This record gives sequence, structure tokens and C-alpha cells, in this order.
Amino acid sequence: MSSPTPLRADGGFPVVGIIGGGQLARMCQPPAVNLSLTLSVLAESPTASAALVVPHSPVGEHTDTEAVLAFARECDVVTFDHEHVPTEVLAALEADGAVLHPSPRALVHAQDKLAMRRRLTELGLPCPRWAQARTRAEVEAFAAEVGWPLVAKAPRGGYDGKGVLVCRTADDLTGWLAGVGEGGLVDGILLEEAVPFTRELAALVARSPSGQAVAWPVVETVQTDGVCTEVIAPAPELDDELARDAVQGALRIAGELGVTGVLAVELFEVRDPEGGRPAYLVNELAMRPHNSGHWSIDGAVTSQFEQHLRAVLDLPLGDPSARDPWTVMGNVLGGEHPDLYPTYRHLMARDPGLKVHLYGKGVRAGRKIGHVTVGGGQEDDPASLAALRERARHAADYLQGVVTE
Ligand code: ADP
Repeated sequence: MSSPTPLRADGGFPVVGIIGGGQLARMCQPPAVNLSLTLSVLAESPTASAALVVPHSPVGEHTDTEAVLAFARECDVVTFDHEHVPTEVLAALEADGAVLHPSPRALVHAQDKLAMRRRLTELGLPCPRWAQARTRAEVEAFAAEVGWPLVAKAPRGGYDGKGVLVCRTADDLTGWLAGVGEGGLVDGILLEEAVPFTRELAALVARSPSGQAVAWPVVETVQTDGVCTEVIAPAPELDDELARDAVQGALRIAGELGVTGVLAVELFEVRDPEGGRPAYLVNELAMRPHNSGHWSIDGAVTSQFEQHLRAVLDLPLGDPSARDPWTVMGNVLGGEHPDLYPTYRHLMARDPGLKVHLYGKGVRAGRKIGHVTVGGGQEDDPASLAALRERARHAADYLQGVVTE
């Protein structure tokens, strides 16, 4: 591990260490500057997204216990850019006296989808019907109960839809069943009913070690080929009761699991087959700033990145209210233009109200390399929301080279 610059805490303000140098760590840097905090990032490489903007970014792997311990010893508190730090590394950190937020006991529910399903079911929170399967017979028994197709998930290590397989017959799972006992399938496969959801939502909350908690408005997330492409805050035409239930559910999960920092609860909106009332099921949890909360940088009084820093330091939390009636965030995926600067300049001139956030990542097809945000409109005017969505879509498409005008 090499330390490019000496680590200096400013005037007694704490040093927050982030394991992982991705765009989430990068987007913590502007609020860290404004809060007078010092960030330190354990980065995969000197050119990792966060390493480009955080002066103290030693290079090391999150799987390398010695590197992680040396990194953590220089930090007052340690948090995460992703959920892939192995259990044994987390245990070594705790044994070494590192202050971890979230704690490994909470984090396991974001690392392991089987652990998450078990715990949420114990707590009586609404989940898709699910089962743990190690054999073909167990797959067939669950299918007999809920019907085909099934959604199979690798309990550990999946992201952006990787590690999720929609299966129409048990044969679709032959390869996965052969891998049971290893890697992400060490405890078997998580099977879920295929939920006939009407749309996907996310409830974002933050909780501090002393138990203060806040919630942002529930958002709608739009996925394309398993990847989130658009987020609308707040979710349009959301039933009031469902919004309240979803926020209460997310706050309850944060409290019961002892989450510290930001918690994103990904949800399916479903129609209750009896009364037709909309309801939610929990899809999965993330215990860090999340793509469904990027809108909050420009659209909320306190962004998820600022809030995460405040929460892990047990500082009083900031106001999560939205600044505008609507905020729309569009993800920019790697596309045609390896050189983004000319396109970026064009967008600035075309739409002065648009905010473009780029992550300093190399352009590769399908990779999340940035996002755009627009806000405004009127609450009871769907046309004003449609216009914002169009502006965000155009900007993201233009950056990706999907449109040229
Ligand atoms: P990842 O960890 O890769 O983000 P998710 O569990 O969030 O995986 O699944 C990715 C996407 O697959 C979801 O956003 C949703 O569109 C779809 N999906 C996941 N689980 C189900 C399910 N039980 N029923 C229907 N669709 C699902």
C-alpha cells in the first residue's frame, strides 16, 4: 500500500475512511470539503473514480486484510463504497478497534440476500415469496408452490442485475446448481416468485449511531435491462398510505438491523389482489449512498452523501426535504463518445438548468459513468414532470451518443 500524500485532519475534525474508490466515495468529497472533514479512500487503483479527487487515496484491495487494517488505523471512522468487503476482513477490522459504520452485523443484510430475506421475514416485513435451494428437487418444490417463472439470485456478490436469473424451467438452473457451495452460491441459491410489480420504488433513509433517523421522499426507479436508468423524486402519483408505509418500513429496518449511515430499500409496487390497493414488497437493501438517491445532490436540502458522512460521525442529521416539486435523475452509461468534454459543453449551453455529474471513469459500454439532474415543475402538473423527464433523457442520451441533436 502506498500513501500518495500524508493524511492530515484539519483543526481536529475527524477523518472518514471509505473502503472502495468508486463514484459513491467520489461524490462524498464535495460535502466533506464543505463540512471540513477529511476523507481517505482505500482505492483499487490510483485512477479509481474517488482517487482522482481525494488527495489521500492509498491503493489497496478491500480483500487484503493487512492493507485494510493499515488504512483503517489512520481513520476515525470507516465506511464503505460497496458491500464486497469479506466477512473475515470486517472481523479483523473490528478486532483491531476500527469504528465501522455500518457494523458488520448490520451490513451482512446488504451483503447476503438470504440473510436479508430471513431477517425481513422474521420482522414481518413484506417480501416476495422465497426459498433457499441447493438441489433441483428444492427448486421444483418451490416452483410447485409459486409457479414458473422463478427469479433465482446469487445471495452474494451480485449488482446491477448480474447474479439474477429469470428461470422458466429447472433446466435453466443446471449451471447454478453445479456451482452451489462455492463463491456467491456458498449457501445455495435464493429463489423468489416473479413479482408482477407495477413499478419499482426506493425508500432512502439515514440513521446515526445515537438513533436519529430521517427519510427522503420515496422515489420511482426505472430499470432498463436490469440497470437503473432514471429516478423520479418523488414517485409520481404515489398512494399516500403506501408512501407512509414504505418510509415506516425502511425506518423500521434501519432501527431493527442497527444500520448506521444511509440505507436504501429497493421496493416493488404491487396491487393487493384483494382490495386493489397498492402495496409494496422489499426487493433488496443497500447500506451506503445509492443510485436511487443521486437526485438528492441537486434536489434535496441535504444530499445522501452529506447525510452519510454526518450519520457515520454521529453528527446531527440534515433536512432531507426536496427543494423542488420534481427532480429527475438520468444515469449516463458508457456509449459512443470516449471524449465527453465537447458533448458536456454543448449540453451546458443547451440547458443551463441541467446539472451534469461525471465520475472520471473510462467510457465502457453499459458502465455507469455519470448522471444528470433537472428539477422544477409543479406538483399537480404532469406535463411539467414530462418536460423534466424529456430534458434528463435527452441529456443522458446525448452524452451516450444515442442522439446527436
Ligand atoms: P441486483 O443486486 O443485481 O441489483 P436485484 O435483486 O435488485 O439485483 O434485481 C435486479 C432487477 O431484477 C430488479 O431491479 C428487478 O427489476 C428484477 N427483479 C429482481 N427480483 C425480482 C422478482 N422477485 N420478481 C420480479 N423481478 C425481479
